[in-house]
Amino acid sequence: MSSLRTPAPDPEGVRALALLRSGRSFLLAGHVRPDGDCLGAEAALARVLGALGKRARILNPDPLDPRFDFLEEAATFHAYEGGPLPEHDVAVLLDINTLTRCGELGLALAAAPSKKLVVDHHVASGGDEPWWDAAFVDAEASATGLLVWRIARALEVEVDRTAATAIFTSIVTDTGWFRHSNTDAETMAVAAELVARGVEPNRLFARIFQREHPGLPRALGKLLARTEYLAGGRLALVDQPKHLADEALVDGDPVLDLLRSVGPVEVVLYLRETEAGDCRLSARSKSDFDVQALARRFGGGGHKKAAGATLEGPLERARERLIAAALEDLGARASAGADGDRR
Ligand code: 5GP
Ligand code: MN
Repeated sequence: MSSLRTPAPDPEGVRALALLRSGRSFLLAGHVRPDGDCLGAEAALARVLGALGKRARILNPDPLDPRFDFLEEAATFHAYEGGPLPEHDVAVLLDINTLTRCGELGLALAAAPSKKLVVDHHVASGGDEPWWDAAFVDAEASATGLLVWRIARALEVEVDRTAATAIFTSIVTDTGWFRHSNTDAETMAVAAELVARGVEPNRLFARIFQREHPGLPRALGKLLARTEYLAGGRLALVDQPKHLADEALVDGDPVLDLLRSVGPVEVVLYLRETEAGDCRLSARSKSDFDVQALARRFGGGGHKKAAGATLEGPLERARERLIAAALEDLGARASAGADGDRR
């Protein structure tokens, strides 16, 4: 059973572990608007590297989402504000495999003389020449935080309660609290190990999901009233014009979760017009419809069951292009059988 819990790393992974062992000063970076998986993986890896006597600094394109403020027990989160990067000999990119997902920070990292290490569970977008020196990648892993667990085991670092909380945060973020079909035996086994190390799932749930803004129910109500069904109810769409942006609606999950809960709905599309005028897409699937392929048509990506992209505005035009592409993909699919919730 131990092989189930920590699969042996591939040759790339072995190189990645060697780089983690030999490096002294690390810069850990994630993607724009870092989510709980990205942040948890960073916090846990910072903790693991710290236990090995190494310096690790976290630097993200955007600030820490306050719902994950408890991760500051493990590490300090810095947001990149331009200018030279702190000195480091190894840059670790977590929960991403392309520097274009790092905004301005990606350009600075690309220009830095440091070694580059990718720790990620996304399918590579293809076409890109490998720009990293080593990669600890498994597209089957439910969360990037799970990869940090594997790294800690391989480096023989004891995962303490603080690191365990960070890894648990990663896992519950990317598995939708163990609901999505990426929730496999390894995920559950590691979750049990983390609880044994002091993680309290109910307290963590309250910290992450029960501190919402009082304006959330009403803002959500207004937005959900815009729900449209297409393709005979297989596709649900909500578009959010700029004027409906609301500080209570920072997280798309409440919208996505509700639409996904509707019986006949296979594909959920949530399109948000930003202040800058372009449109952020969050797409989810609960059938074998591949939302990653859909997102890629617009220069985005992600996983089969959860993906995103940024479309050029205005909203009305983006919406039309998105619907046309989604209907085409739905029509092109040979079979429409629902197969659960694999991401
Ligand atoms: P969300 O809808 O929560 O923003 O994103 C869902 C998933 O899609 C994320 O976990 C991430 O893997 C991926 N994703 C979201 N936006 C983008 C994007 O613009 N580009 C790429 N490559 N992936 C994205
Ligand atoms: Mn992730």
